[in-house]
Amino acid sequence: MPEELKILIVASEAVPFAKTGGLADVTGALPKALAHLGVDVRLILPKYPSKGNFDLTGVNRRIKVPISDRLEPVRVFSGAANGVKAYFIESDKYYDRPELYGDTKGDYKDNAERFTLFSRAVLEALPHLHHWRPDIIHCNDWQSALVPLFLKTVYQDNPFYSSIATLFTIHNLAYQGVFGADNFHLLTGLSKKEIFNINGLEFYGKLNFIKGGLLYADTLSTVSKKYAEEIQTEEYGCGLEGVLISRRDELYGVLNGIDYTDWDPAEDEFISRKFKVGDFEDKEEDKKALLAEVNLPYKKTAPLIGIVSRLAAQKGFDLLAEVIDELMQEDLRIVLLGTGTEADHKLFTEISERHKGKIAVLFKYDNATAHKIYAGSDMFLMPSRYEPCGLGQMISLKYGTIPVVRATGGLADTICEFDHRGRRGNGFVFEDPSGAELLSTIKRALAAYRDKRIWKAMVKRAQSADFSWDRSAKEYLKLYKYAIAKRKRKK
Ligand code: ADP
Repeated sequence: MPEELKILIVASEAVPFAKTGGLADVTGALPKALAHLGVDVRLILPKYPSKGNFDLTGVNRRIKVPISDRLEPVRVFSGAANGVKAYFIESDKYYDRPELYGDTKGDYKDNAERFTLFSRAVLEALPHLHHWRPDIIHCNDWQSALVPLFLKTVYQDNPFYSSIATLFTIHNLAYQGVFGADNFHLLTGLSKKEIFNINGLEFYGKLNFIKGGLLYADTLSTVSKKYAEEIQTEEYGCGLEGVLISRRDELYGVLNGIDYTDWDPAEDEFISRKFKVGDFEDKEEDKKALLAEVNLPYKKTAPLIGIVSRLAAQKGFDLLAEVIDELMQEDLRIVLLGTGTEADHKLFTEISERHKGKIAVLFKYDNATAHKIYAGSDMFLMPSRYEPCGLGQMISLKYGTIPVVRATGGLADTICEFDHRGRRGNGFVFEDPSGAELLSTIKRALAAYRDKRIWKAMVKRAQSADFSWDRSAKEYLKLYKYAIAKRKRKK
């Protein structure tokens, strides 16, 4: 019965407690949605310097966590947010720092130690949670990938732990937690001979944390079905395709959801005109307001392409830079909100200077402006080289802003090509990561935009799609039950 299910989600970040990226959105929204389905779900994460008042209380006296050849004292705290209970592992020496993973000089040098301690402390904390023992532990990304490994090795003969199932979710395979082999001593109780080899944590002579999750979790998932397939290939597997192929029968894809309490044009406090499905005039007012704010002239017939993104290589904006001069011969506007390296900023500043009055660029992270771009644009561009799930395309659909995307990962699973005759499709899609393909795809979108009747029909279709967390949470629930049943059979 779902109400009896006890789920512990382990993550290095979760909204509203700590966030550097999309992982925190998922681990914040998923437990909230699961709780609505009536399961007992709790979170556990490191205790970073507090960013809010979460009324934490100590759960126990110090517990001692084995790491290397010593026992490291930590404390467990509990708190809650959005109706979800959360536990925190306190070790000021490791987690009381200004940032989560590193500073401007780079990653913290002791990250292997920090997240080995975290994973081990999660398992050591379990018997101290006032008789609450999870049926399944859901781990996320490399920072908690050692939990399944420890559980299946060091703790497997302990009856308290032996029936606990594990799900490991890959949010972005490019981040694996790779450290020097000299860190192996941190993994107390594991034999280097048994674990440090190609069928274990070794990766080209180094120690690879994410392999702990990929090899030892009962079940694996990633954030779209397409990405689940892609990471089994050399092109997208980041060197781990062999491992993923060996576990392909256990690898599932579950799309992330959108939190529609944050992203709903009918309730959005950031935009100048709220609108519902079919309120085209209000959306046009948002476009005017946005263009005025970024100093671009409004013109009724010129569509506006919005971009809200990190400008990382993954996102494929080099393809746009390649064809921008040809593209800007068309009658259109572009607003870009993003952050990247100095070189990215220079490149796009030069582009905007070459196309004054048609392109505006804003190099900052700004949630309010992001909302205005989703609401005020006609099209939303995501030419990603790879995209495990992607949120931007799902948000823009809700705002009636038609995505133009490359068919990869979650973009391929959520956006299908507009088909004039079949009256189907919610965007414009290209396969080949080339400037020429991007250009011709945007041109297809521009052509469709000129026919107001069919464009409006597509906008309405886009706005009516459901990418809520409720849907994703139901899929996770199925996976949890499956992993638990599998664990029971193995015992
Ligand atoms: P990723 O997690 O790889 O960056 P996603 O598409 O999954 O990409 O999620 C990115 C999220 O961050 C989206 O909600 C997007 O609106 C937001 N975002 C990205 N860059 C900015 C920015 N410069 N300002 C405001 N929001 C941004």
